[in-house]
Amino acid sequence: MTVVVLLGAPGAGKGTQAPILAEYLGVPVLASGDLLRAAVTARTPLGTTADRYMSRGQLVPDDTIVDIFLERLAADDAADGAVIDGFPRTVGQAVALDRALAKRGNRVDLALYIDVPEDLLVARMASRRICAANGHVYNIASNPPLEDSICDLDGSPLIQREDDSEATVRARMAQQIPPLNEVVEHYRTTGVLRPVDGLQPIELVTAALLAATDLELGRV
Ligand code: AMP
Repeated sequence: MTVVVLLGAPGAGKGTQAPILAEYLGVPVLASGDLLRAAVTARTPLGTTADRYMSRGQLVPDDTIVDIFLERLAADDAADGAVIDGFPRTVGQAVALDRALAKRGNRVDLALYIDVPEDLLVARMASRRICAANGHVYNIASNPPLEDSICDLDGSPLIQREDDSEATVRARMAQQIPPLNEVVEHYRTTGVLRPVDGLQPIELVTAALLAATDLELGRV
């Protein structure tokens, strides 16, 4: 089983890079944000609780997300591993993930950290768009679709995420970057952290992530 955790602030490029990395490794992407947004859309009890936090740019409490996410990780399609996008967001979540994997004789093999300076993130997110059908990620400034406002991959309209408004983005940065830094330190301590310069063009970030993966997971 290969477990790769993809770390980065909101807007660092996790949602763009995760599917590429997952395809390379032959494992699914498990994105906690997608899981929560699906619950919000389906109006489940989880979604109702999560929405209160998400719409304010706050992290959902650990006891709301941890069990649900670990259950998702235990599903059959992740038997060979996963690229995890958006989890863990706190050290408490990181410890819960380590424990759950250790019970099955596994561990986080690699924590890739897409590093982007905080002052550039707000601007990036103002121009971020996702497709309505599947959440494919675009940026109207740096990574536009071929046809205006239409997803290249599934033809659905591109929309702005509700929590990408400037006020919510600033709240997300303020609330989420300090715990992210602690999670980064957690993986530095466990020895699996590999930072990548997230300021490079998308293709170069991808190349750096794949090179770190090859090196650390012995695929070369
Ligand atoms: P994302 O799509 O990863 O940016 O996540 C969107 C929102 O979902 C975040 O701003 C949080 O409110 C919430 N969220 C996603 N993952 C987590 C997590 N692991 N812990 C707490 N909240 C989360």
